[in-house]
Amino acid sequence: MLAQPGPDLLSLNTATVRAQWTLAQIIEGCAKHQIRGISPWRDQVAQLGLKETARLIRDAGLKVSGHCRGGMFPAPDRAGRLAAVADNRRAVDEAVELGAACLVMVVGGLPKGPDGRPVSKDIAGARQMVRDGMAELLEYARASAMPLAIEPLHPMYAGDRACVNTMEHANDLCDELGSGVGIAVDVYHVWWDPRLKAQIERAARAAEKRILAFHVCDWLVPTIDLLNDRGMMGDGVIDIRLIRSWVEAAGYRGLHEVEIFSAANWWKRNGDEVLATCQERHRQYV
Ligand code: ZN
Repeated sequence: MLAQPGPDLLSLNTATVRAQWTLAQIIEGCAKHQIRGISPWRDQVAQLGLKETARLIRDAGLKVSGHCRGGMFPAPDRAGRLAAVADNRRAVDEAVELGAACLVMVVGGLPKGPDGRPVSKDIAGARQMVRDGMAELLEYARASAMPLAIEPLHPMYAGDRACVNTMEHANDLCDELGSGVGIAVDVYHVWWDPRLKAQIERAARAAEKRILAFHVCDWLVPTIDLLNDRGMMGDGVIDIRLIRSWVEAAGYRGLHEVEIFSAANWWKRNGDEVLATCQERHRQYV
């Protein structure tokens, strides 16, 4: 069994306290609690302003474990797919400005109409659009030296958020796309997969560094909401430390990013309490 992680390895995904704090308050909270890493969301960055966000993060001495997020490639028509790639180029620029370790990619599910409803049942076609969109974005990302981290999402999101749902599929895509792309391993999405360990080992054999991010939270039983009922580490059924041992054996030395969407629990608590709990549970369970 691995030892407890160093406290400097903890990074806060800003979604964890987004309901109670603004991005400026979150950055201040990290500094106050001596959390050394952060991963902001694009909407929060847009609200605070990119330059101002970069300045505050620099002044607080925070490392940026990732920028959340690019992706969402599938669209019903060519114009929509081109717009998605254009928006992703802006996300790459933001990630560069923030000094992020990677741009996290939630690749998108089935193509959606203007009302947000899926307009197709062709998931193989959606996966083709993801591959094409990634390939096109990669040229730009490579020129900007910004690694793209594909985040396989739990299969319950295949319809609406990401049609890449396993480490195996993400590894296949990385093999096909070549340099400049890797994987964000989020325990919430992949813990159930019988091939997880083997696919993390496969990632370790890639020509360049493939595991670019490690996201932690916990899987609650029962889970009462498909999106916003993630658990604090230690409150659910994921053996997070075991999975950390696998990603470290694969050479990963980056931060451990806590990412908790929790409408009924953690978003209702005092932000300082949430951060202190993240630190304590990181020590105990990650
Ligand atoms: Zn994640």
